[in-house]
Amino acid sequence: MKTLPFDGFREECGVVAIHGHPEAAKLAYLGLYALQHRGQESAGIATSDGRGIHCTKSMGHVADIFTPPVIASLPGDRAIGHTRYSTAGDTALLNAQPFSVACNKGRIAVAHNGNITNATELRTDLERRGSIFQANSDTEVILHLVAHSRERTLAGALREALLQIEGAFSLVFLAEDRIIVARDPYGFRPLAMGQLEVSGHGMCYAFASETCAFDLINAIYLNDVEPGEMVIVGPEGVTRERYAPSPHRAQCVFEHVYFSRPDSFVFGRSVQKSREEMGRLLAREYPVDADLVVPVPDSGVAAALGYCDESRIPFRQALIRNHYVGRTFIEPSQAIRDFGVKLKLNPVRHLLEGKRVILVDDSIVRGTTSRKIVRMVKEAGAREVHLRVSCPPTVSPCFYGVDTPTKNELIASNHTVDEIRRFVEADSLAYLSLANLRGAMEDHNHEYCYACYTGDYPTELIQIQELMSARRVRG
Ligand code: AMP
Repeated sequence: MKTLPFDGFREECGVVAIHGHPEAAKLAYLGLYALQHRGQESAGIATSDGRGIHCTKSMGHVADIFTPPVIASLPGDRAIGHTRYSTAGDTALLNAQPFSVACNKGRIAVAHNGNITNATELRTDLERRGSIFQANSDTEVILHLVAHSRERTLAGALREALLQIEGAFSLVFLAEDRIIVARDPYGFRPLAMGQLEVSGHGMCYAFASETCAFDLINAIYLNDVEPGEMVIVGPEGVTRERYAPSPHRAQCVFEHVYFSRPDSFVFGRSVQKSREEMGRLLAREYPVDADLVVPVPDSGVAAALGYCDESRIPFRQALIRNHYVGRTFIEPSQAIRDFGVKLKLNPVRHLLEGKRVILVDDSIVRGTTSRKIVRMVKEAGAREVHLRVSCPPTVSPCFYGVDTPTKNELIASNHTVDEIRRFVEADSLAYLSLANLRGAMEDHNHEYCYACYTGDYPTELIQIQELMSARRVRG
């Protein structure tokens, strides 16, 4: 009988890898800087100069951690980097990545984006065989599997390890003389490959969760690491190999709905293009007579542009976002209602007064933020607020690397659209249908995962777990 998936915490992350650049740590730093939106809790970089692996990781933002002296302490022309956001209060430095160990394959480090769904089972087995874990992250399991492998080469050991893990993983590995990257056979999380010419040094290869990381370091986006593929970059050059078949792709559609930056190509597709098309189809599916289309910044902007394009209703940025909100702010002791949202967003009264407003956002999760924003727009004088959401209702949690609350906390899992409308106090509410989301993604070959909208999980272990928890609920 299989055990339940590792559920210590769910985390969202960004990864980078650089091979063949004299300033590899700097490039990894710049890549992580561009991927900061994928995780703000901790960040780390490991480099290799052929004599050992050097690693720095810390809590906080990339630019605060990697000061010039810290970067100078990371020598070598190979590097991997990671930026992490985790929930469930488990923000300990212990779980920050990259993880690094010394084993019979030399010293190796790993960074991971995704969730390994059979980590608990593997960890129990490894502990029985003598492995000692330092953290409670599922990623550490991979290192121990590699260390335990009887394969002679690192690539061989890694191949063996990858065939034992299930779930979502885009991985970057660093060894003393090479980097190896891999994607799970479903391709849940993205991993792009790029290159840049370094004068006097030859070709440098770069890998990153999103192509916006390449733009900052002047790398050209070549293509994606394929689902089930492993790419090895070492002294012998670049080797690409399929370590597992990939009969069924399940790329995360939420990367396009919300998570990735609009200036990125993700799964080979422009995120901005996807979002604008979601907005256009939303306008066609749920038109409403109004004066203004207003995005919830920043995540709703591209879809609002598409909505406005299709509806011919003017676009106005009537909610202004303060981009400099940090964790430490002083709140007056006399509580201010909706303080958190007010810190981040402020309405432009002059635009909203007396207007019928179409408010466009990318998603409703618990519904609490949407309610505060609708209230804010009404209090600023809007006559009507029509909320339009550029994806279907989020009814099921993600087990593949997106931070979503439990099913009970997802407002759409136990409320109808009209009940949600009443909760968020909007005059009307509509969500993009699943068919139109597929249409916006041009997903003719069924290559995306929509489990958060359907509850239909692509992997067996999660299907079993969901079935068991449904039975428990029914008693
Ligand atoms: P709420 O409905 O109050 O839970 O919040 C919804 C807002 O959270 C939306 O405007 C999204 O932009 C944002 N959001 C959706 N999913 C996530 C996520 N996984 N992590 C962080 N923010 C998210």
